[in-house]
Amino acid sequence: MIAEDARRAVVEHAPDLAALTPGRTGNLSVREGDAFAVTPTGVAYDAFDAADVPVVNLEGERVAGEMKPSSEVPMHRHIYRGHAEEPGAIVHTHSPMSTTMGVLREPLPPIHYMIVAVGKRVPVAEYAPYGTEELAANVVAALEEADASASFIENHGLVVVADDVETAVENTHHVESLAELYLRSRSVGDPVELPESELDTAIEQFESYGQ
Ligand code: 13P
Ligand code: ZN
Repeated sequence: MIAEDARRAVVEHAPDLAALTPGRTGNLSVREGDAFAVTPTGVAYDAFDAADVPVVNLEGERVAGEMKPSSEVPMHRHIYRGHAEEPGAIVHTHSPMSTTMGVLREPLPPIHYMIVAVGKRVPVAEYAPYGTEELAANVVAALEEADASASFIENHGLVVVADDVETAVENTHHVESLAELYLRSRSVGDPVELPESELDTAIEQFESYGQ
């Protein structure tokens, strides 16, 4: 089976979206070589198997899979093609707190050291209709401009890019939680931002964090 590992990873991790985004919104993809396996469009996250999972090459053509791919294939494809670090996975959600930031059209400032998991701020990509090349270009531009691996999308949601799907899912939770902290603290006071030097320290600390 073409891109078997990536398709199995999509089947395994698509249910993770249920805790992050309402209904059948959102999608995720896992790259394998010059192609990526992506969730099928408009299907419940536990209602397909590996043979159903569409595989799309970096030119945007479906090369395998029984089901029609996510409408956001242009966004996934342009991120894989445009990102200097060649990410291995992408998660897109309509997570409520992150989408609130997109509705406010405000970037997330560094109010907690965990932001360095995705950059020094989370930018907001300009609105365009979902599934379009224009939206894909806006997301790539926002990620590049902020040197970040996550971006809100105006009046739409969130996209997170990572080396692997586990990290992409985990960082989606981190961004959602940071957006919640920011909105909560803003609702009762004035959030204080960490200085750049503390973010650099956190980046250094992360290099040796964990087992
Ligand atoms: P798909 O079901 O086509 O992946 O679309 C969901 C979505 O979030 C579009 O932006
Ligand atoms: Zn969406």
